[in-house]
Amino acid sequence: MSNVSSNMVVLQRDDFQQLIDALREREYQVVAPTVRDGAIVYDEIQTIAELPMGWTDEQDGGQYRLHRRQDQALFGYVVGPHSWKRFLHPPQQRLWQAQRNADGFQITPENSAPPKRAFLGVRSCELHAMAIQDKVFHNDQFTDTFYQARRNNVFLIAVNCGQAGGTCFCVSMNTGPKVTSGFDLALTEVIEGDQHFFVMQAGTDNGIDILQAIEQRAASEAEQQKADAIVAQTAAQMGRVLDTTNLKELLYQNLEHPRWDDVANRCLTCANCTMVCPTCFCTTVEDVTDLSGEHAERWRRWDSCFTMDFTYLHGGNVRASTKSRYRQWMTHKLASWVDQFGSSGCVGCGRCITWCPVGIDLTEEVRAIREQQSGI
Ligand code: SF4
Ligand code: SF4
Repeated sequence: MSNVSSNMVVLQRDDFQQLIDALREREYQVVAPTVRDGAIVYDEIQTIAELPMGWTDEQDGGQYRLHRRQDQALFGYVVGPHSWKRFLHPPQQRLWQAQRNADGFQITPENSAPPKRAFLGVRSCELHAMAIQDKVFHNDQFTDTFYQARRNNVFLIAVNCGQAGGTCFCVSMNTGPKVTSGFDLALTEVIEGDQHFFVMQAGTDNGIDILQAIEQRAASEAEQQKADAIVAQTAAQMGRVLDTTNLKELLYQNLEHPRWDDVANRCLTCANCTMVCPTCFCTTVEDVTDLSGEHAERWRRWDSCFTMDFTYLHGGNVRASTKSRYRQWMTHKLASWVDQFGSSGCVGCGRCITWCPVGIDLTEEVRAIREQQSGI
C-alpha cells in the first residue's frame, strides 16, 4: 500500500468492495446507482453486486432505455431520473408535529439529525448542481437547517464520466465531464483487455483516510494518461450543445418571441422537467390533521413552476398559460438564476430533455430563439 496524499492511486476492480466496506465501517450509509424498474436510480447498497454492473443507458429527447454492455463496467452509464437532491433536499420533509394537550398544543420540531451518507458515483455535473443548491439553501440571508445538516454529513465519491449520454451538454455549461473540485474521492474507471481498475484521487483528508484503509498502489504515468484520455474522449462525445454566448441577454430580450407559443403547443405542463432537475428547489407547504383534530403536521413537498397552484396569489394565478410557465422555467434556469445566485441554474445533465414525455429540449428552444432573432 503506498503512502497516500492527493496523488493518483490505482484500485483494482477485485478490491472495489473494500471501498464500500471501509465506508460502512465508518458508519456511512452508502448510496449508489442501482437498477430498478428499467432505470438507474440511487439507493442504499451493501455490496458491489448491487451496482449496475455491465449496464449502459441510451438517452434522447423523451427516451430512456437500458442495454447490456460488452464488458462488466461498474459506471458505464450516465445520469438517470434520480439526482442526489432527493437525499439532500428530499421530495417530502415533515417540518413539525403538533399534539393537542390541556394547555393548547405542544409543537415538536422535526429532528434534523440525518444519517451519515456516502454518495458513490457522483458525476461532475452533479457536484456542480450541489454547489448551486448550496447557494440556494445556505446563503447570507437564509440557511435551511435540514439541508445543511444533510450536506455536512455527506462523503462524496465522484466518477469521471467514461462516456457521454445522448442528452448531455456539460461541456457547454463548463460543468464536466472531468471532476475538478468538491469531492472526497474521485475515480476514473479503466477497462482494457483483461485489465479493470480505477485511477483514484483524494480531495480531502477524509478521502485520504479511506484510501489508506484499502488495497491500492501509486498510479503509473501510463495509467494516469489512460484515465485522462477516457475523460477527453467523453468530452468530445457530448450528445447536445448549448451556445451560452450572451444567453441571459438573449432570453431577456425575447420574452415575447413566437417560439414560446410554439413550445406551449407541445408542453404538457406535467412538471417532469422540474422534478428530475438536480438544481430545481421550489417547494410548497401543507398542513395535515388527523380526523380527531388532536394531531397536526406540517410538511414541505417539492412543487413546480408548472403547477397552477404554485403561482396562485390572492385572487388568481399569475402564470395561467403554458407559455408563461415554460418561459418562466427556462428564463429562470438560464438567465435570472445568474442575477439571483451568480451562476446559471443549468449544469447540462440533460435530464429535463430525456424525461420530458414529449421530448422538449431546452438546447433546441434556445437555438430556435437565437436563430430567429439573428435572422439566420
Ligand atoms: S435544466 Fe435540464 S439539463 Fe439543466 S440541470 Fe436542469 S435537468 Fe439538467
Ligand atoms: S417541458 Fe416537458 S417535462 Fe417540462 S412540463 Fe412541459 S411537457 Fe412536462
